[in-house]
Amino acid sequence: MTRTPMPYDGYAHLLDRVREHGLRWLEGLPDRPVHPPADLDVLAEALGGPLPETGADPVQVLDTLVAAAEPALVASAGPRFFGYVIGGSLPAATAADLMAVLWDQNAGLVDSSPPAAVTERVASAWLLDLLRLPVDATVGFATGGGTANYVCLAAARDAVLARAGWDVAADGLQGAPTVRVMVGADRHSTVDTALRYLGLGERRAVPVDTDDQGRMLVPALTSALSSAQDGPAVVVAAAGNVNSGAFDPLADVVSTAHQAAAWVHVDGAFGLWAAANPATRHLVDGAGGADSWAVDAHKWLNTPYDCGLAVVADRAAHLRAMTAAGSYLIKDVATPDPLDLVPEFSRRARGLAVWAALRSLGRAGVADLVERCCAHARLFAELLDAVDGLTVLNQVVLDQVMIRLADDDVLTRALQQAVVAEGTAFVSPTVWRGSAAIRISVVGWSTSREDVERTAAVIARLAGELQQGG
Ligand SMILES: *Cc1c(COP(=O)(O)O)cnc(C)c1O
Repeated sequence: MTRTPMPYDGYAHLLDRVREHGLRWLEGLPDRPVHPPADLDVLAEALGGPLPETGADPVQVLDTLVAAAEPALVASAGPRFFGYVIGGSLPAATAADLMAVLWDQNAGLVDSSPPAAVTERVASAWLLDLLRLPVDATVGFATGGGTANYVCLAAARDAVLARAGWDVAADGLQGAPTVRVMVGADRHSTVDTALRYLGLGERRAVPVDTDDQGRMLVPALTSALSSAQDGPAVVVAAAGNVNSGAFDPLADVVSTAHQAAAWVHVDGAFGLWAAANPATRHLVDGAGGADSWAVDAHKWLNTPYDCGLAVVADRAAHLRAMTAAGSYLIKDVATPDPLDLVPEFSRRARGLAVWAALRSLGRAGVADLVERCCAHARLFAELLDAVDGLTVLNQVVLDQVMIRLADDDVLTRALQQAVVAEGTAFVSPTVWRGSAAIRISVVGWSTSREDVERTAAVIARLAGELQQGG
């Protein structure tokens, strides 16, 4: 066989440069300032002003991009980034994601990439097993937990309206029976955006009272449901409050909601991973009885961005809400295509990284990842609670720790900023029960006990200086 000349003969050099830049980044991650200050104007200037009239060599383009971006990159994939809920990327997942880019598969249809579709199917079965969800549930590979909430709540809306004799796909919401939506008072904001996208209205959602950890109070849910009468109803529960890490009492929430024929959706973006660890599994007792679940792979499974999973028990409802058809599509009607389960039509093969993460960790590795992070969170709580003036605000049941300095908003905000400016670690600000707090989230595979001790020492030192007015 003769070799066809490549339309571009620089791949070897280009990929060598990618390897060089990538390796420098990955190997430097533990030692970089975690969140260096960035000047957006400087960045924009380095990236080059108005659209160039002429093109440039790919290697030069790559080098320009890296030189401009690197000084301002956030080491959120590193071992001491404890802000938001961000977990970095496992080596196998990073490698598989690179292959997704190199192969450039369109994962929308089985026919447009059989390996992309089958990795998603295999990974889905593994995930359902690991998270103790119904084995025949359908899994859509979406961009994140927010989109997954949207997909699941679309299925919920359509299904509860179908039971009331209304076909929302065909007839829309105008003139439809009212759908009552009950949400925990401490829900994640993407639940509200999903309700907005779905025409259900943020303000129409009924907030159900929560306790001091942010957990839904079942008696409050019962009374909210009884005032909803028999009409279509949806309850949105939380597995893992984004501030406290707390779980709604899921078994009771599910049975209470199901008695009222409501659909139960569980927002478990990071918290559902508790199911994969024997030591935290009790937190999600009863979650498998719900109707849909949102969970992120890019948080605690440590795949690269972006990947969230929309899981729906009622396959027909999931398909009805998301399916896409077209005379030019090659489709097997018996098995859904990946595009039948998410809003996107064409998209990247994000299942490759999920498959690789699960394959590289195995059941024991995922359990260990979750447990190690929880142990780190407990260590943070222990070390910080011992510091003069610092208070841990939540029961540390999972990966989240909230602290406050001297019971003072100004000092607490100043401490968060001082920690970030110091450069060793990143922690994020939040507001809890009306007061400023600092949120520490531990979901990264690469964080060690030493990283936690080092970070706690920095927080302790800065807390001391701030209290002395330093
Ligand atoms: C992060 C998060 C979301 C949103 O997920 P994205 O992946 O950022 O879209 C939703 N709910 C909870 C509880 C979260 O922690």
